[in-house]
Amino acid sequence: MSDTIAAVATGNVVSAIGILRVSGDGTLRVIDRVFFPANGRPMSEAEDRKLVYGALKDADGSVLDLCLCTISRGPHSYTGEDTAELQCHGSPTVLRAGLRALFAAGARQALAGEFSKRAFLNDRMDLTQAEAVIDLIHAETEQAAKNAAGQLGGAVLRCVQPVYDALADIASHYHAVIDYPDEDIPEFRLQEYRGTLRQAAGQLQKLLDTFSRGSVLRDGIPAAILGRPNAGKSSLLNALLGYDRAIVTDVPGTTRDTLSERATLGGALLRLTDTAGLHDTSDVVEALGVERSRMAAEEAALAIAVFDASEPLTADDRTVIETAKGVEKRIAVLNKSDRPAALRAEDFEADFDAVCVLSALEQTGLDALEQAVSALFPMPEVPAGEILTNARQADAVRRALESIRAALDALELGVTPDAVLTEAEGAMGAIGELTGRSVREDITGRIFERFCVGK
Ligand code: GDP
Repeated sequence: MSDTIAAVATGNVVSAIGILRVSGDGTLRVIDRVFFPANGRPMSEAEDRKLVYGALKDADGSVLDLCLCTISRGPHSYTGEDTAELQCHGSPTVLRAGLRALFAAGARQALAGEFSKRAFLNDRMDLTQAEAVIDLIHAETEQAAKNAAGQLGGAVLRCVQPVYDALADIASHYHAVIDYPDEDIPEFRLQEYRGTLRQAAGQLQKLLDTFSRGSVLRDGIPAAILGRPNAGKSSLLNALLGYDRAIVTDVPGTTRDTLSERATLGGALLRLTDTAGLHDTSDVVEALGVERSRMAAEEAALAIAVFDASEPLTADDRTVIETAKGVEKRIAVLNKSDRPAALRAEDFEADFDAVCVLSALEQTGLDALEQAVSALFPMPEVPAGEILTNARQADAVRRALESIRAALDALELGVTPDAVLTEAEGAMGAIGELTGRSVREDITGRIFERFCVGK
């Protein structure tokens, strides 16, 4: 028996449509008390997944909204339980009143992520799919959304399931020999499983290799905008963001702190840090800012070095080039292309992966910067969903891989089969944690707490 939960699924914003969601054994009873179909037949007699028009009423019988209702009886529903959705007009006031009516009829407020947690507990999805739900909701780029959608479709599960099955075959064969010595079971020859273990290790390594790209996909590429004072760093950041976040001024050295913003460029999510101008200074506050910009460069995976191309290179510009060289990927931006050029793109090609000539002020040439970013951070050639984006999942895959490697090592050393099989079972345990088959309750609890209410 599950109690009946209800929540507003569409958030507290005015919109065209707002959805109230209900799940649990008492769903049909609760819905029959608050929703009155125009056709006169209660929802408990309605077909599954059919939209029914009617009146949503509060406990006193006053009409709150004229809306649509649909029910899905368990187990063929998102949660695996009886569920209902009321598609109301998207007024937060109406939705709150509707929710109160559902509570008066016997439902209680759903906790954050409780619908998805029930789906997981009722085997409607594994843990990687549940985590994909959060990733999909929070995806900031189309690529991240596509990968999350692939994971929602069970892509990670499909990658690891053959490995799990192969390990389970090894373990069950071994146990059969031990447990039924009198039966005519083919003798357990562990050496024959060497190939299977190698293949399993290869598959897990391939999946794990996608993780570094996966965290970039989810959290963005740390990118530092470097340049001497007045080169146009703040102007470039503003142009990229499309609004005035940084202070733009013609007094050198006014960007004293670092600013951080997220922006998508060339399909990649950048965590952009606009830094104080890099130059020698005796001003204490400014010197602190300069130090911070060096630190931002140290943490960056991409340096966008901005130069005022209307003036010859200065000593500070050379410091910028040296600082940028410490960053893995680097783009030189020759800014102020609306003025006569004093710098040549060719002179930067040796030190930078790409050179972009643009005008931050007039917002021209930004597409070249976009193309440069997308060329430097291409998507890996794997199907959507097969990129690991989640540290918990990567950790489980890493432990499974370590156990399989340890099993292979034990095999090479010719130790007893028990040692090999303990490791194989360890690997199965780690894969079980990845999918949620054998995960601890406190861990699942923490995962679902990250969901919003109504999901
Ligand atoms: P920062 O100190 O590097 O952050 O430079 P700012 O973005 O504050 O810009 C310094 C000055 O250069 C301001 O007066 C900007 O308006 C000007 N500026 C920035 N980009 C351009 C550009 O593309 N063309 C021209 N002509 N001026 C620019």
